Amino acid sequence: MMRDDNCIFCKIANGEIPSKTLYEDDSFRVILDLGPATRGHALILPKDHYANLYELPDEVAAEAMKLAKKMAIRMKERLGADGFNLVQNNGETAGQTVMHFHLHLIPRYENDGQHILWNPGESTPEELEEIKDQITK
Ligand code: 5GP
Ligand code: ZN
Repeated sequence: MMRDDNCIFCKIANGEIPSKTLYEDDSFRVILDLGPATRGHALILPKDHYANLYELPDEVAAEAMKLAKKMAIRMKERLGADGFNLVQNNGETAGQTVMHFHLHLIPRYENDGQHILWNPGESTPEELEEIKDQITK
């Protein structure tokens, strides 16, 4: 058991704080987000505490993605969503506010007024080459 006593998502994932639970097994709880981006916005929480993606064991990462697929298909069908975003923030700069790994499940509806996508920038072939080298060499 890896729990952080000061972590709200540890308490929610392990049922110490009640939540609207959509799914639960030994390793995960899926809950409705209290401040939803859209109708049905949910969070996949591992029951063990990992602060972010960098700390997540491979097998938990793999199971989380399988669960995301299962939930997305069900939620899309039940809620009549037109699309679906998976979002996962790491670090304050990236918008992470709760430092317990979680995967956002965000059903999308035509004209839902949300703007989860980014503004595309510009690049040159030289810049892309430099970045590629920086990451791969
Ligand atoms: P982050 O910004 O860290 O990726 O996402 C944190 C998310 O957790 C936000 O969407 C926020 O609305 C949600 N959240 C924060 N506290 C609670 C809570 O106590 N219960 C639930 N269900 N969601 C929460
Ligand atoms: Zn935690």
